[in-house]
Amino acid sequence: MPRSPAASPATDAPNGAASGDAKPALKADLRSAPAKALDRMGLDTPLALALHLPLRYEDETRLSAIAALQPGQTAQVEGQIVECRVDFRPRRQLVARLHDDAGDELVLRFVNFYPSHQKTLATGQRVRVRGELRGGFFGREMVHPTFKAVDEHTPLAAALTPVYPAGAQLPQAYLRKAVAAGLSRAPLDELLPASVLPPGLPSLRAALQFLHQPPASASLATLEDHSHPAWQRLKFEELLAQQLSQMQSRRERARLAAPVMQALPGGLHERLLAVLPWGLTDAQQRVSQEIAADLAKPQPMHRLLQGDVGSGKTVVAALAAAVAMDAGWQCALMAPTEILAEQHFVKLVQWLQPLGITVAWLTGSRKGKGRREMLERVASGEAKLIVGTHAVIQDDVQFARLGLAIVDEQHRFGVAQRLALRRKLRTERGPGSPALEPHLLMMSATPIPRTLAMTYFADLEVSTIDALPPGRTPILTKVFGEGRRDEVMARIAEEVARGRQVYWVCPLIEESEAEGDGRGKPLSELANATDTHQELSDALPGVVVGLIHGRLAPTEKAEVMARFASGQTAVLVATTVIEVGVDVPNASLMVIEHAERFGLAQLHQLRGRVGRGEVASICVLLYSSPLSETGKQRLKAMVETGDGFEIARRDLEIRGPGEFMGARQSGDALLRFADLAEDAPLLARARQAAPWLLDHHPAAARAQVARWLGSKADFLKA
Ligand code: ADP
Ligand code: MG
Repeated sequence: MPRSPAASPATDAPNGAASGDAKPALKADLRSAPAKALDRMGLDTPLALALHLPLRYEDETRLSAIAALQPGQTAQVEGQIVECRVDFRPRRQLVARLHDDAGDELVLRFVNFYPSHQKTLATGQRVRVRGELRGGFFGREMVHPTFKAVDEHTPLAAALTPVYPAGAQLPQAYLRKAVAAGLSRAPLDELLPASVLPPGLPSLRAALQFLHQPPASASLATLEDHSHPAWQRLKFEELLAQQLSQMQSRRERARLAAPVMQALPGGLHERLLAVLPWGLTDAQQRVSQEIAADLAKPQPMHRLLQGDVGSGKTVVAALAAAVAMDAGWQCALMAPTEILAEQHFVKLVQWLQPLGITVAWLTGSRKGKGRREMLERVASGEAKLIVGTHAVIQDDVQFARLGLAIVDEQHRFGVAQRLALRRKLRTERGPGSPALEPHLLMMSATPIPRTLAMTYFADLEVSTIDALPPGRTPILTKVFGEGRRDEVMARIAEEVARGRQVYWVCPLIEESEAEGDGRGKPLSELANATDTHQELSDALPGVVVGLIHGRLAPTEKAEVMARFASGQTAVLVATTVIEVGVDVPNASLMVIEHAERFGLAQLHQLRGRVGRGEVASICVLLYSSPLSETGKQRLKAMVETGDGFEIARRDLEIRGPGEFMGARQSGDALLRFADLAEDAPLLARARQAAPWLLDHHPAAARAQVARWLGSKADFLKA
């Protein structure tokens, strides 16, 4: 019998944390395999164990008569072993015959067995077995049933038996004991005043007790669909903790001081507006005003600017930067890729250089003397606007007076980078103004669905550009099977003959790039961008076909992009490096090969590379069979709508919120119990309760967040 987990050193001294212990590793080695497995699953505290909920339940509270069993039915039966023997045909196996009290017979068959099996199942023994009934050739039988020795008085289980998510080396019996022990020791005292709870829910302890050991009379249906009050209680607890944490960070931010920034009459902001070749759309004007109002406040802005691909976010960012510079502050603009950063840089230079502003450029590939000089100009405050990749937040970059940080496509930065940015902003305080925190503007072309905006992003202000600049024609989207490649080629030739340009996107370029692709298709099936480049060059004589992919050096990428932007290249074969931000208004046809392999948000982003000018544009989604169900849904969504918000809504529907957030990368499910799609009423209640709780029971609010989010709270803020 494995050692009781309650007595395991793992629960008391995790990871050899005890100070002065010279050989913590030795201690760890002594623990049993199941104890280590518990640790690996993060089940290393009584609370973690108490919150490890069953996947399903087995009913061991009753016995069935053998005569009444139907094939396929899982049941528990008790009786006497009348024969137990080892057969050798068709292969070595243990066969026992059991008679229940009515005298009906059941055959138990084990292909793998140990001496202990033979001992427990010896002739004359009384046993209780549980398994699925098969109508075999020799009568009723169970293959590999669970079994245990009993006598006439052995009581039946009083509760349904929980079956837990478990890993290798973690037997259910061990896990059940560990969870029961955790449940009895976990600090589950009620933190919440009854008035915040939805009516009719059990206490937290009672809820968990019920979920781990439901009585025989419990409704399996409400347990399985999570509508049972015990489930509701857990979901509410979790949603409330999440709301509290968001609201807490919002309030913390409100206590920080930030530079007050206002555009100067006749200043940069005004002059920039005057030199733009077009007027702002109403939507751009509105969001610009929202941002300007934030910048004029003495608290740091924490705003997300969302707007569909091509809605014109860059100029809004430039205007915000102009306000900051007008007020004498530096502004940093960060983009997730070098290509995107470069596009911003080019555009900002084009707009601001004539107005006398030097835009600085900072990326990872910039090294040596050039970089040192740049850093000096940033540190001296001579560089007012600094554009680049995450190189902008490296430790050696010191700003003289950073007043505004703008992050484009912020969700594409990893969690670690987002946290690094927050830390950087914390410490980056100009010498003249030690207590000031910069304003933060984030931009995204992937709109956050409403439910997520109310939960994970509850501490963000959101501005939305909800209309595209005028004169755009909607993009026609078509789905073609691989077999119609020739038609697509002909279409490309037509577009080029009209003086238009074409993108052709391939999912991967070289076999080695596919590491971590993880979608399980053999690589040889993937379109190879180099081959495709060759194929298009052959099929389109006289047409200049370019090629861009992630393996090119940044300068090479920039050259390829520049040739396409200037029209020297008519067709550009690309891997997904072109996904974000690339802006070539003359491009009118987008072909996406193996479209079924892309996510919906990514497809929408790619499609947004065309339809940027006044020409009617087409997006062709090429797919190979067989299409998965979700693949089909994604392509259907693409054909049916061009609206980024609708796309995001469907994406959420298809993938669920965890994946939407990119949480899979972090390996952490964001909500363990609640389901945003189903639990809207609970969420509404949690939103209502959170501010009241923070005001009137701050200690309980803190304890609630710590209990449910623990170390995750940091991640949620990123
Ligand atoms: P995104 O929101 O995807 O970042 P961009 O800022 O790249 O969009 O803008 C897309 C294109 O629209 C650019 O060519 C930009 O110059 C142009 N644009 C932006 N605002 C307007 C406007 N008000 N009128 C016309 N064109 C605009
Ligand atoms: Mg953009």
